[in-house]
Amino acid sequence: MASTWELLDHLCRHCGGRVVKQVTGGPHITAGGNPIYMCSLCGQGKASMGPDVVCWCGMTMRGGEPHIYACAATKDAETDPVLAEALANCGISPYQNKYRLQVGVLNSADYRRLARKREGLDE
Ligand SMILES: [Zn+2]
Ligand SMILES: [Zn+2]
Repeated sequence: MASTWELLDHLCRHCGGRVVKQVTGGPHITAGGNPIYMCSLCGQGKASMGPDVVCWCGMTMRGGEPHIYACAATKDAETDPVLAEALANCGISPYQNKYRLQVGVLNSADYRRLARKREGLDE
């Protein structure tokens, strides 16, 4: 049975591949009703309430300053200097991303800063 998957703006914490979510079909839909979240490259992942079972969201790095990370789409980085700076803080270039990565990683402080800015613009 064929299954369909949705491409998400989240990156695999194991290999950096895009995370996909099972939308329909396949033998993998669980009795609990949670969809499968899986890396499209390395295949890691499982049924979960969210992509953080396999992506960078909520990941903490040990050593030095403890940062919690969050995935973010990079497509607006060229017109959003705050997003571009936040990506750069994690070593991600928006210009490189134009041709390669469509999703990057932010640290939690920058993620919150962006969220506040976007809330302000929406008012
Ligand atoms: Zn992967
Ligand atoms: Zn994520």
